[in-house]
Amino acid sequence: SDQTELLRSRLEIHVKGDLVPPPILSFSSCNFPQKLLQNIEAAGFEMPTPVQMQAIPAALSGKSLLVSAETGSGKTASFLVPIVYLCANFRFEQFRDRKKPLAMVLTPTRELCIQVEEQAKLLGKGLPFKTALVVGGDAMARQLHRIQQGVELIVGTPGRLIDLLTKNDIQLDDVKIFGLDEVDCMFQRGFRDQCDKNLKTDDDIMMNGTHSVGECSSSTSLSSQQDVEDDCMIAVVLSEE
Ligand code: ADP
Ligand code: MG
Repeated sequence: SDQTELLRSRLEIHVKGDLVPPPILSFSSCNFPQKLLQNIEAAGFEMPTPVQMQAIPAALSGKSLLVSAETGSGKTASFLVPIVYLCANFRFEQFRDRKKPLAMVLTPTRELCIQVEEQAKLLGKGLPFKTALVVGGDAMARQLHRIQQGVELIVGTPGRLIDLLTKNDIQLDDVKIFGLDEVDCMFQRGFRDQCDKNLKTDDDIMMNGTHSVGECSSSTSLSSQQDVEDDCMIAVVLSEE
């Protein structure tokens, strides 16, 4: 509507794609469980940032997203909040006893994985939401063990994930939500080829999404000198069947 357009233009949010839901103005306007709202508040997030205002409702509508916004604009929570919400919901419902991961986020570096997992743990505190790291520099056996205990979200680097998948049986067929952080950086490192070769399994859910980017593209634009494309995140969110 005109109101939505006005709001977006005020927030400098640019959107491409059909039926993209309007931005949210507060976290409490989403139908989140109290616990998640408390965790968001405890993290010090009073108001969603512009990228979160648009990306969160879009992700919750089941759309695949390509999100681009400047460094520091809050892209991490823009995909972690939907991930925590959706995972906790799935677990409460039919998948309760299952131990397979429901979400996976890949990032180009170990350090970034650690930060993303840290934030995921904070946001998922007290909810049925466990996380596992899959990165180098730590024993693979331990990481595997943790996944086998049952986690909702895996945060990893492509390299270590591929090692783990090549040598072990990890079942990713329940992964409903797949995120790639700093995807521009990952594609520069030849990750796209690795994806095509290694991750496209019988359930081609993950890479399907990746190749059909741009259903909704939202970017908060900056003062013109800065390069918005520098730092880009893609979150592919698959709807529950
Ligand atoms: P990006 O990935 O876009 O570079 P981050 O997700 O790393 O940015 O967020 C940058 C900083 O902003 C982090 O310290 C994060 O905790 C903080 N942050 C994220 N969302 C909010 C919010 N809604 N309110 C206040 N701070 C936030
Ligand atoms: Mg980031």
